[in-house]
Amino acid sequence: MHTIGILGGGQLARMLVLAGAPLGLRFLVVDSAEDACAGQVAPLLRADWREFDKLADFAARIDVATFDFENVPAETAHWLTEHTRVFPNPRALAVSQDRLAEKTLFGEIGLDTPAFAAVDSRDDLARAVERIGAPAILKTRRLGYDGKGQFRLKSPADVDAAWAALGGAPSILEAFVPFERELSLVSVRSRDGEFRTYPLTQNWHADGILSASLAPAPGAESLVPLARAHAQRIAEELDYVGVFALELFVRDGKLLGNEMAPRVHNSGHWTIEGAPASQFENHVRAVLGLPLGDTSALGVNAMLNWVGELPPAEAVLAEPRAHWHDYGKSPRAGRKVGHATFCANDAAEMHERLSRIGAALEREAQVAPVLAALA
Ligand code: AMP
Repeated sequence: MHTIGILGGGQLARMLVLAGAPLGLRFLVVDSAEDACAGQVAPLLRADWREFDKLADFAARIDVATFDFENVPAETAHWLTEHTRVFPNPRALAVSQDRLAEKTLFGEIGLDTPAFAAVDSRDDLARAVERIGAPAILKTRRLGYDGKGQFRLKSPADVDAAWAALGGAPSILEAFVPFERELSLVSVRSRDGEFRTYPLTQNWHADGILSASLAPAPGAESLVPLARAHAQRIAEELDYVGVFALELFVRDGKLLGNEMAPRVHNSGHWTIEGAPASQFENHVRAVLGLPLGDTSALGVNAMLNWVGELPPAEAVLAEPRAHWHDYGKSPRAGRKVGHATFCANDAAEMHERLSRIGAALEREAQVAPVLAALA
């Protein structure tokens, strides 16, 4: 019997617990919030990231530690390695926490990125805008997710507004990419270096937050070998163990690296029902040193995210091969509170299923880009 400790008690931890239960695993989740939703399915230890006496208790009660949240301070991750096994390792976490380090690594392994420049002052920003041009996006190097910590500059006249909006935090300026589409590649690497990837997934965002995913991404087969090679080089360079996601833009048919998430990822939620072994099960297997599971897609799979509040469940539950996920969180604007996954044998069946769901839930706008990709 093994116990996996998870830093962060959100929906990702919750789904890791649900995937690990059939394998006979125990979990212990640490989070500072009393109502962390993983606490509904596993024991929850309440602690802040720097309460080392409580973390010592956490480490003593687990066999291995992992993360549902990538912004655990590097100091905490290092401290943990002296008290238990930690996957992914603190360096992998540190690189993915910092947009500059991450994009620099992408360049080193041969993955192109949008043009970018480090910005530490208002003058840096003015110079970066001169070099990169506008439109562009200023992003904080750290602690940005779901479109937070970002400011879009329409023209060089926006320099002061952008600098003020991000509060002078160390940042990077990126060229705005008019991409054809967004893809992600969810991969897993085992303790002994075995590497597997799920199919490329196509993603759509609304207000910087993932809105819908479709897997396998239609017509993306030719991009798979290169995307996979990039992900494998990143994983090997970081000696990564566990699941991670590489977010990519497609521009003029070519891949550009946006960011990597050192954890299970929202764009891989479809794997719970749409793959023989889900991203959550494979992450658990990887961190425990167990053999990895099959990462192929079973037919066509679409995921719709529920952001802010849940729609009525009944219309989804009435649909064949539809899977409802309520994270047990209270509703709040911009908060991910659940998702649904729809599985089908082929694109035509998925088109029909999603059209019906979009109308029943009055979410035509959310399903429209997915329907267009399936047509
Ligand atoms: P991020 O937090 O960096 O993943 O950004 C959230 C979303 O904003 C991305 O998934 C894209 O839809 C959009 N975005 C981010 N960076 C760029 C960029 N350089 N050009 C165009 N769109 C972007």
